[in-house]
Amino acid sequence: MSGYSETVDCPRCGSEESLEHSVDGDDVCGNCSECGYGYQTMHSVVSLEEVNEMRKELEMEPLTELKKPVEGWKD
Ligand SMILES: [Zn+2]
Repeated sequence: MSGYSETVDCPRCGSEESLEHSVDGDDVCGNCSECGYGYQTMHSVVSLEEVNEMRKELEMEPLTELKKPVEGWKD
């Protein structure tokens, strides 16, 4: 897994090269040194099909339905 970072213009405050954007594998994050704008990898929930694709690669039995999230979890 290799990563890199670069300095880009901030979309929020418009400052030039104030946003440190770094990528490390699937993780992406950025922080603006001028306005404090920041972001990081969005978490998402994939479909049952995609989960089963993943399970197939791990030699696991496919699911018929996805496991329910814990109580109080908000997607
Ligand atoms: Zn900014």
